[in-house]
Amino acid sequence: MLAKTHIMSTMLTGGIVSFAVPTESLNYFLAVLFIGSIFPDIDENGSYIGRRMIFVSLVLSLFIKHRGITHTILILLVYALIGIALHAHYMYGWISWTTAGFILGNAIHIIGDMMTRSGVAILYPFYTGSLHLMPRPLRLRTGRIIEKAIVLPLFSLLMGLTYYYLLLEKSQGLLHQAN
Ligand SMILES: [Zn+2]
Repeated sequence: MLAKTHIMSTMLTGGIVSFAVPTESLNYFLAVLFIGSIFPDIDENGSYIGRRMIFVSLVLSLFIKHRGITHTILILLVYALIGIALHAHYMYGWISWTTAGFILGNAIHIIGDMMTRSGVAILYPFYTGSLHLMPRPLRLRTGRIIEKAIVLPLFSLLMGLTYYYLLLEKSQGLLHQAN
């Protein structure tokens, strides 16, 4: 799956979830959502995020395989535990929203990869087989015409609509507060 598709599918889903996020935490939530949408591929130095953080990704690729630990339920639980620990210590509301946004971004990325032919071993290290979300004929192949000509334009359109209404809703909320 292309980095663009990961970013768009995550920002679209996250945009819908954002209606429930308090306005003061929204910028943190959306920023980490974006990072989370490409973060799992940090284990591959040729990926979008890997090329931008080449040192980290080169070091990581020595120790872990691509679509390995960063694409598992286990790592999402670790992120959740770190978020809970930070929140328990500092008690800032934005910490929970930042953690939630980062986990959501990573989770949607993993779900996206599970729709591709190679699938993801999300239960690693407990079960090392690759799991898929869709039957074989429907699985996506990265960068193919369906992804570029249908999936991406559709996501762009839906994203435009979602963020338009989000902005409208949040600005009305702020106006309401100001009055
Ligand atoms: Zn991935």
